[in-house]
Amino acid sequence: MSSQSKPRVLLTRAEIEAKVDELAAAIRRDYLGRHPILICVLKGAFVFAADLVRRLNFPLEVEFVQLSSYGEGRESSGKIKVEQSLRSPIKGRDVLVIEDIVDTGTTISFLLGYLRKRKPVSLKLCALTDKLSRRQVPVTIDYLGFTVPDKFLVGYGLDLDENFRYLPDICVLEDNVR
Ligand code: 5GP
Ligand code: MG
Repeated sequence: MSSQSKPRVLLTRAEIEAKVDELAAAIRRDYLGRHPILICVLKGAFVFAADLVRRLNFPLEVEFVQLSSYGEGRESSGKIKVEQSLRSPIKGRDVLVIEDIVDTGTTISFLLGYLRKRKPVSLKLCALTDKLSRRQVPVTIDYLGFTVPDKFLVGYGLDLDENFRYLPDICVLEDNVR
């Protein structure tokens, strides 16, 4: 369970890059001319969001929200708090949420509900990874990168107690125990 665990590559930077290209192409097709607001869920999605927006060469805005659910370690506390809320209104706007990973679905369904109350004209979700086997709350992922195994992942923005976010690949920690 420690930050000294050795990361093993699950998805290489090349695989991620190709997938981000694909996702960006789909998003470009759907959102061109609509001036959407992309909402990056901090902190984990910041690397993915940064790579994605640079492939969307059309007018859009970027916002950030920060939620807390996991706290320290690998298990979610189940209690979600908005640590940093939106800085601008989303009423009447096309909103696309950018998330790193959907696990039980608790966090993202809470956020989607929170955003829906603010009356966007459309609300969609783009997630780089999906731990589908762990789902407890149903979630529709409109743009999905990879379905991943039930392992604790780090790298490409994902952390374990704030470590490993800098890794360019998505990795599994070797002594993976729950
Ligand atoms: P959920 O509420 O869907 O169970 O959890 C979603 C959040 O938990 C994600 O946004 C992410 O911050 C965190 N999370 C879930 N699985 C992993 C994982 O394998 N690695 C890391 N670093 N974070 C995870
Ligand atoms: Mg986290």
